Amino acid sequence: MMHIPISSLVVSAPLNVVYPNPVQSLDKCSSMAELKQLHSQIIRLGLSSDNDIMGRAIKFCAFSKCSDLVYAHQMFDKMPHPDAFIYNTLIRGYLQCQLVRECFILYLQMLQDSVMPNNFTFPSLIRACCIDNWVEKGRQIHAHVVKMGFLDDKFSQNNLLYMYVSFGCLEEARRVFDKMPQRDVVSWTTLISGYSQLGLVNDAYEVFKSMPNRNSAAWNAMIAAYVQNDRFHEAFALFNEMRMGNVELDRYVVASMLSACTKLGALDQGEWIHGYIRKNGIEMDTKLATTVIDMYCKCGCLEKAFEVFNGLPSKGISTWNCMIGGLAIHGRGKAAIELFKDMERETVAPDNITFLNVLSACAHAGLVETGRHYFKHMTEVHRLEPRMEHYGCMVDLLGRAGLLEEARKLVEEEMPMEADAGVLGALVGACKIHGDINLGENFGKRLIELDPNNSGRYVLLANLYATAGKWNDVANIRKLMNDRKVKKAPGFSVIEMEGVVSEFIAGGRAHPESRKIYAKLDEMLESIKCLGYVPDKDGLIQDIDEEEKENPSNYHSEKLAIAFGLLKTKAGQTIRISKNLRVCRDCHQASKLISKAFDREIIVRDRNRFHHFRNGECSCNDFW
Ligand code: ZN
Ligand code: ZN
Repeated sequence: MMHIPISSLVVSAPLNVVYPNPVQSLDKCSSMAELKQLHSQIIRLGLSSDNDIMGRAIKFCAFSKCSDLVYAHQMFDKMPHPDAFIYNTLIRGYLQCQLVRECFILYLQMLQDSVMPNNFTFPSLIRACCIDNWVEKGRQIHAHVVKMGFLDDKFSQNNLLYMYVSFGCLEEARRVFDKMPQRDVVSWTTLISGYSQLGLVNDAYEVFKSMPNRNSAAWNAMIAAYVQNDRFHEAFALFNEMRMGNVELDRYVVASMLSACTKLGALDQGEWIHGYIRKNGIEMDTKLATTVIDMYCKCGCLEKAFEVFNGLPSKGISTWNCMIGGLAIHGRGKAAIELFKDMERETVAPDNITFLNVLSACAHAGLVETGRHYFKHMTEVHRLEPRMEHYGCMVDLLGRAGLLEEARKLVEEEMPMEADAGVLGALVGACKIHGDINLGENFGKRLIELDPNNSGRYVLLANLYATAGKWNDVANIRKLMNDRKVKKAPGFSVIEMEGVVSEFIAGGRAHPESRKIYAKLDEMLESIKCLGYVPDKDGLIQDIDEEEKENPSNYHSEKLAIAFGLLKTKAGQTIRISKNLRVCRDCHQASKLISKAFDREIIVRDRNRFHHFRNGECSCNDFW
């Protein structure tokens, strides 16, 4: 480090303020200019070698809002015998700025100067190793921790545990954990999340089970582990166990559970959690409020989402984005645009996500002119360059409206980047809707090569061929999928009633009431035949669903879920279902007719959007 004479360090500070007690004033210092004045007076008083005083000055430079690490290091360089506190402070300062090398240079200097590291030294160094995944360096520091006698130090040990977890070295993490003389809740939860981050949720549960005292942080770590790994039933079961055990639910647990409800479409449970938040005075900050709004939107309950949204005293950009996006997936394009205008009126600066949601709102509602307007507006007014996803939305918007040539031009001539699978997928999807076999085939083949492991891409191209009656090509696509061993995502639909989530797979008979459900399904299909329903027995007439294959489409999971819903709900009650894949044409047609025959509103969330089936019609106007 360059040595700068003290005189040159203080020139930038005005010299007209004299502090009666500069040392005491250090603790109340509020700016670097002030700090520099105090420093100059400390020098004049001959106190610039005092470790305690200079330690406080360096701490201010390293951690205050107006931090200046360069100045801190210059002060440090002038110290004849800096102590461990000063070294640790500077190391932490560099760690905070992610300047990892500087941390280790200081540590080496510390050892060379024979300053003994203490229990505050190693946690920073260990964290520094995590930033750039320095596995070898991490192991060396671990050896130093052992050699210098910090095996009993909980902080160092917890940080070592965290480090091995972040490296994905679970065996070493386990060894640290097993040897720890005292474990606290941090140690346990670190190990639990370590196992869960590697798709080893069962091991995480073993650790959780063997925990002596579980507080809410531990429960949350385990619940979050289940949620992150899409094991929602276990998450719900554990959550119920937690409630039974009267463990306090903190904001983290409620947030984890809300996202489970969101993914599953479990409205009742989500509402219960929202009620709990209100009753127990859990602070509804912007982040939690956005999670609640997202849950209501994705569980098909826009009114409640709006209620929460309107009740917020202050809204962050993510809150606005969430609400606009919610309206978009429900096909409420005009309402989404109105909300966007409110946002502009309240001078909240929109970001890329806002425009993504605005454009997708236009696409889902077929608002071509509005979409074109906002696509320009984002650059011209808000100086945001459209990204790949924005182009994807525009292609989707134009394509759905049948403006295939304009969509093609955007992809091939106007986009500044090479189109990705999302953009091509939107174009091919539009070609399928409008039966443009030539354009669709051309882009569909490119799409498969760009995203060869995604079954949905093959299905899309196969469907395109099917709509044109090109059965040989359909068969070739199937063969290609088999040859390449492309796996279809297993399809499932869930329905939640009275807090119980039931999951159905195509043709599944695992449900305890499956006999009744199939009987209801038959009755359901019989009654819609009178309304003109023709069952798609081969699964090949118009559309190939990702769920088909072994299961004929009349046993698709959403039909089973609807049958179960009809069995279990009262007349007039809305049936809400969520499905992980796209709804197939046969199920879509059947759902429309069921809504009429049984006089029910049926709300289905599929992979892309919401379908509100009512009186024989769907809110998507048959474009999805
Ligand atoms: Zn289906
Ligand atoms: Zn629909």
